[in-house]
Amino acid sequence: MSKKKIVILGAGESGTGAAILAKDRGFDVFLSDCGNISPRYRDVLEAEHIEFEEGRHSMERILAADEIVKSPGIPLDAPAVTAAKAKNIPIISEIELAGRYTDAKMVCITGSNGKTTTTMLTHHILTHAGIDAGLAGNVGNSLAYQVAREPHDVYVVELSSFQLDNMYDFKANIAVLLNITPDHLDRYDHEMQNYVNAKFRILRNLTPADAFIYWKDDPVVSAQLRRIETEASTYAFAEQQEENTAAYIDAENNLIFNTPGSSLTMPRADLALSGLHNLYNSMAAGLSACLLNIRKDDIREALSDFRGVEHRLETAGEIDGVLWINDSKATNVNSCWYALEAMTRPTVLILGGKDKGNDYSEILPLVREKVKAIVAMGIDNSKILEFFGPEVETIRDTHSLYEALKACRSLASAGDTVLLSPCCASFDLFKSYEDRGRQFKKAVKKLSSEKQ
Ligand code: ADP
Repeated sequence: MSKKKIVILGAGESGTGAAILAKDRGFDVFLSDCGNISPRYRDVLEAEHIEFEEGRHSMERILAADEIVKSPGIPLDAPAVTAAKAKNIPIISEIELAGRYTDAKMVCITGSNGKTTTTMLTHHILTHAGIDAGLAGNVGNSLAYQVAREPHDVYVVELSSFQLDNMYDFKANIAVLLNITPDHLDRYDHEMQNYVNAKFRILRNLTPADAFIYWKDDPVVSAQLRRIETEASTYAFAEQQEENTAAYIDAENNLIFNTPGSSLTMPRADLALSGLHNLYNSMAAGLSACLLNIRKDDIREALSDFRGVEHRLETAGEIDGVLWINDSKATNVNSCWYALEAMTRPTVLILGGKDKGNDYSEILPLVREKVKAIVAMGIDNSKILEFFGPEVETIRDTHSLYEALKACRSLASAGDTVLLSPCCASFDLFKSYEDRGRQFKKAVKKLSSEKQ
């Protein structure tokens, strides 16, 4: 019998991992990427003797596949994908493939914002407690690679809506849905419901033995939950205790977790991560840990000594009493809202970059309350200048990091915070949000060393 043919579309972390797993499992594997493959992954593919092409898609070869693994970055309407669909070739995600070859417990985390933070925090709690846990999603090695080459007992997996799109039989043991706000609508025919449906795919295949953890006060999640049913046990978290909340803050400002047969209390002030959004992230991570029967002391300790995630409300330095914060990952308006919500000092806010159709009115009340000046940093700042010009006392138009930091230096005084939380993608001036955040931190360090 000839080998089953698997074609992998896209050679990033997930595509390369899927190719390795498929090859290890005896498939005839071909990887095709219509762009350039980064040298890092090209080297791996060559060393693994995996056949690949780049800069094109050989359609004949692709359409000869028994199954296709599509990388999450490739849109559902890409020509190669639609052609495969027309031929009824099954198209799956890397996570779907990986799920077939492991019995490990899966804690899966999705939402519009907070996925990476919650995934890393949950992983931190588990490893702190001595559990052999793998971390997969946005950070580190793909799930498929880990299943193939470095298997773990439990995986904590960050799932974007793009990963969820092509999942069918995969199932989580603990599924977490943090929140849903408009994002990536360009990939969902500009229909919010399509995006909501993609997020809710995290509930697929859950049984009564599984758990679904969600934020109770999210209107979009609540509305959808009224429409659908799940067999899983559900655990809601909210800032205040309501009916059936499994995690909440009590009148003494303690964080309470209530799960079957167990209850855990810790002072909210002991949480390592600050801000309301991080309270929610800590609740979701703590509930997952409770459901995995992690010792209470381990949960408390890990929730209080977590060091945070790069580019998410990360302290970049303090110069002359001004605190500089890197929140470069805030590429949409909602995440900037939560960053501003966490600010306790007068703030100079750096906004701008590539606008994804932003509606800035969501942050206007917080801007009026906390922001003393806005520094717009981007190639075209007109929308920001127009919107916020009449709202803040000072607004500056800058077109490079250097100019922006110079403006911040002159606007911020001791006791203030400079916050990079741009609401926009970075691609006009930077390679990525990581590049933007790192350049920001480097420049702040330089400023601080010049002072000494
Ligand atoms: P994701 O992986 O979903 O993009 P991250 O953990 O990387 O989420 O955080 C992205 C941005 O969203 C950060 O700038 C952070 O300040 C903000 N954020 C984090 N958690 C939440 C949350 N629960 N709700 C809203 N915004 C959040």
